[in-house]
Amino acid sequence: AEQRSVTVIGLGPMGRAMADAYLDRGYEVTVWNRTASRADALVARGATLAPDVVRALTANDLVILSLTDYEAMYAVLEPATSALAGRVLVNLSSDTPDKARAAARWAADHGAVQLTGGVTVPPSGIGRPESSTFYSGPREVFDAHRPVLEVVTGKADYRGEDPGLAALYYQMGMVMFWTSMLGYWQAIALADANGLAASDILGHAVETANSLPGFFTFYAERIDAGAHQGDVDRLAMGLASVEHVLHTNADAGVDTALPAAVVELFRRGIEAGHGADSFSSLLELMKKGGE
Ligand code: NDP
Repeated sequence: AEQRSVTVIGLGPMGRAMADAYLDRGYEVTVWNRTASRADALVARGATLAPDVVRALTANDLVILSLTDYEAMYAVLEPATSALAGRVLVNLSSDTPDKARAAARWAADHGAVQLTGGVTVPPSGIGRPESSTFYSGPREVFDAHRPVLEVVTGKADYRGEDPGLAALYYQMGMVMFWTSMLGYWQAIALADANGLAASDILGHAVETANSLPGFFTFYAERIDAGAHQGDVDRLAMGLASVEHVLHTNADAGVDTALPAAVVELFRRGIEAGHGADSFSSLLELMKKGGE
């Protein structure tokens, strides 16, 4: 039978959205937050505010953690380790894979089990069927609690036993997210310097972003085969292109940190002898132990 009772520790925008989602589904929800007032609206909806962390932990076997990072988790749980035995800690705080692994060992030392989570949506996506969260940790624990996890986001995407994996998938998404968004800001700065508004270039920006999956798919197969043949693009051509990008931004008087960093990577690729290869050969520089 589906567990209908859960504890949520950490009531930032994400934790509050999660507690709301559980209340929406008729769960009994116990909450705790360092700043207790953040629980007010949830309590008004029927949540129980635990008076301390120990009682938040003992209220339920399944405890959702939504804190800034793993450091905040230790700050909250260290004084309450006596109440950890038997708990399943679903840690939806984002941090590095190594921190997630260390926390899983720490939880085990106190008789608890950690499921690591990496939520891929903002607070507005919490509780929605199309939203997705990466999970890793003990498979049987994930399977046993899957329906409860699917309240947070409709998709619970299990990646494997290693507690670092969910954090790793999350971080792979984030490096793409942050650099892509910076590319978008760069285009808007360039537009602005030329008298255009963000809304003027939105259609073009969206079309450009939509073209990327085709490139991902095309290059994935070649990359896994170790093939960087310059039959459709050459790094030397790419360098000329990214230099045009740099000069266009410099001419417009906007910040050039991002396009200059791109040019620098391409130059290193040329120096490493990849001028006639595809620009995918830059990967060989970027890989662990790369040139
Ligand atoms: P916030 O940083 O706003 O919320 C953090 C929570 O952590 C608050 O409840 C805060 O308590 C608590 N906290 C922080 N430090 C401490 C501490 N030292 N001791 C006790 N409590 C502490 O984060 P969000 O709610 O926005 O996000 C939560 C997690 O989800 C983060 O790891 C974030 O990276 C991740 N995430 C966020 C997304 C978003 O769009 N917001 C999207 C995907 C993931 P207090 O209220 O007292 O300050």
